[in-house]
Amino acid sequence: MKKVINTKTRALCAISSAFLLAAFTAPASQLTAGALPAAAKETPHVLVVGGSQFYISIGEGELTVSRADLTNYAREAARAVIAYYGHFPVKHIMINFVPTDDDCIGYGTSTYNDDQQTGVVTVEVGQGTTRRALRSSWTLTHELMHLAFPVVSHHERWLAEGIATYVEPIGRMRIGNLSREEVWGDLLNNLPKGLPRRGERGLHFARNFDRVYWGGALYCLLADVEIRQRTNNRLGLEDALRSIAKQGGTAASDWEARDAVNAGDKGIGLDVLTSLYTKMGQQPVYVDVPSYLRKLGVVKAVTGVRFDEKAPLAATRRAIDGIEDI
Ligand SMILES: [Zn+2]
Repeated sequence: MKKVINTKTRALCAISSAFLLAAFTAPASQLTAGALPAAAKETPHVLVVGGSQFYISIGEGELTVSRADLTNYAREAARAVIAYYGHFPVKHIMINFVPTDDDCIGYGTSTYNDDQQTGVVTVEVGQGTTRRALRSSWTLTHELMHLAFPVVSHHERWLAEGIATYVEPIGRMRIGNLSREEVWGDLLNNLPKGLPRRGERGLHFARNFDRVYWGGALYCLLADVEIRQRTNNRLGLEDALRSIAKQGGTAASDWEARDAVNAGDKGIGLDVLTSLYTKMGQQPVYVDVPSYLRKLGVVKAVTGVRFDEKAPLAATRRAIDGIEDI
């Protein structure tokens, strides 16, 4: 059975197309070695990163970027996932690049094909997309991050989207594709979009994009900081998420969100994920984001942000970064 999860909506390009649908609904048999996936013009080639095999398929259509560029895009995205999770969470992944008439990276989706035991990610690539645009694109990393977490019910989607939204830039920062200033600047700018507006309920009831993605990302930041505070920065959210994947709670599982957060807490020996999940899911939780980030040493500057290393939780922020100070 093919499960479709986490359809992405924060694309910069307009959503096409019958083409995506065709690739998306390709029968499982088309994922077998030697068979062409829908809309592909050639046999998928195999990229091996961290012991996982990525079958890369490029659909029909003219592109500015080359096959080598797209392969490198896939390699970097896989490396970012590994930088966060320590390993790639599933062994076989099909990546369908679907050319479109636009000029940038567009819509992305993640699925898992149970029959083929293969993660399936589809990303639209506009014909005018440049190599530079590929390097700055978060889309494929975001979609690959989804494979490390279960497919969840619709009202729990905020958790899956929040995790992918929060960990994607951290993974990319750890491989040098984003600066710390970019990561924390984006959080400062975007997390307030995830806050409940007047009359809104908890995240289980959220339907608009900002609340689902950035409300979920705020959950992740709060959980990350709490875990690090309670363990003197010995453990963080990544340890809980790694444990969930290690216990089998990947996109290949049939777990519900509550199974995952319970497993995460069990893995780190704390009750953080589950209680915060219940609280933020059921009721609106307001956080003064600028003040909260200031405690972590993130200070708004004339352009972007700067870091105050004397802030009370500056060490926690550096632990989240997971990179050596420059
Ligand atoms: Zn997503």
